[in-house]
Amino acid sequence: MQLNITCIPGDGIGPEIVNEAKKVLNKVGQVYGHTMNFTDILMGGASIDVHGVPLTEEAVATAKAADAVLMGSIGGDTTTSPWYKLPPNKRPEAGLLAIRKALNLFANLRPAVLYHELAGACPLKEEISDKGFDIMIMRELTGGLYFGERKTEEVNGVLKATDTLTYDENEIRRIAIKGFDIAMKRRKKVTSVDKANVLDSSRLWRKVVEEVAKDYPEVTLEHMLVDNCAMQLVKDPSQFDVVLTENMFGDILSDEASMVTGSIGMLASASLNDTKFGLYEPSHGSAPDIAGKNIANPIATILSAAMMLRYSFDLDKEADAIENAVKQVLKEGYRTGDIMSEGCTKVLCDEMGNLLAERIK
Ligand code: NAD
Repeated sequence: MQLNITCIPGDGIGPEIVNEAKKVLNKVGQVYGHTMNFTDILMGGASIDVHGVPLTEEAVATAKAADAVLMGSIGGDTTTSPWYKLPPNKRPEAGLLAIRKALNLFANLRPAVLYHELAGACPLKEEISDKGFDIMIMRELTGGLYFGERKTEEVNGVLKATDTLTYDENEIRRIAIKGFDIAMKRRKKVTSVDKANVLDSSRLWRKVVEEVAKDYPEVTLEHMLVDNCAMQLVKDPSQFDVVLTENMFGDILSDEASMVTGSIGMLASASLNDTKFGLYEPSHGSAPDIAGKNIANPIATILSAAMMLRYSFDLDKEADAIENAVKQVLKEGYRTGDIMSEGCTKVLCDEMGNLLAERIK
């Protein structure tokens, strides 16, 4: 198979970690008989330095022409970098918002996986972390409170601010379908999270999710109120498979779920549109404090590449091969600095990439 992948190395550690992901993908190509066609584009600070803007129309066109986009990270040190003296719409992050919009990415996936070997980094009690967990938080990305009408006005001499939370049934249906499709590739359980005891938008959410569930008889659906979900994520995270929720709830719950894994350098993510197209990137930022030192952990980006194989190319065996290589390397005791613990072997960013590529079977 020919895989046409646009890469955005970006800023900070971005180029280092994307390089390692390409190395691992090329090995997957060799072992499984696929050709990886990578085209790099500039975004964020790297694009500002060359073109004066964080994203050009040509770069968007290149991304659109690909089957999927693999990104490192963008942005610099927000207190010292000259990029942050520019107006907000010219700063590195504006490029990310613009590409998400241009590619119509409405579904955000953030897996939170606790690897047995890294359980020491989990802030939960041992009796909870011992059970392990593997959760996929699916967050609606383009609707809800963050995109509704907002205003601040003075009413009878008192300042009053209003934000509106709106969803229509089509917006809910398309993310629900994605959620159930993804559950079919996993343990076939969806927990739909809402606040249906209070909010109309949540009651519509629940109704539409139930309609969609009828097309997926193999998937178990449960509903959970968001406040309960926040508690359950720290009480018994092993109960969750796919957590399906709206924009703001997902923003908060995905950060909570990733924190309980304790390892920022291990967290992948994806944003999808209503075709197979997606943008895949680590959950962490560009880590300017360690950029250029070859010490970043490339695993989050490499696991994002595995998600790309699974969700944009339906190459499940190949995605498994990458995820198994990560488990294997951790079991053998290799660690980058951020996840280092006593008795393990500390390796550099490119050494971690080599170790993973060697273990692709
Ligand atoms: P960060 O995630 O870049 O770094 C937080 C801490 O985690 C730092 O100490 C860093 O060294 C460490 N870290 C992060 N990733 C690591 C890795 N792979 N290996 C080892 N250590 C790692 O967050 P920040 O410092 O708040 O932000 C830095 C820049 O990144 C800012 O410009 C911010 O806007 C940007 N950012 C971009 C994205 C994105 O591109 N999607 C996301 C978040 C932040």
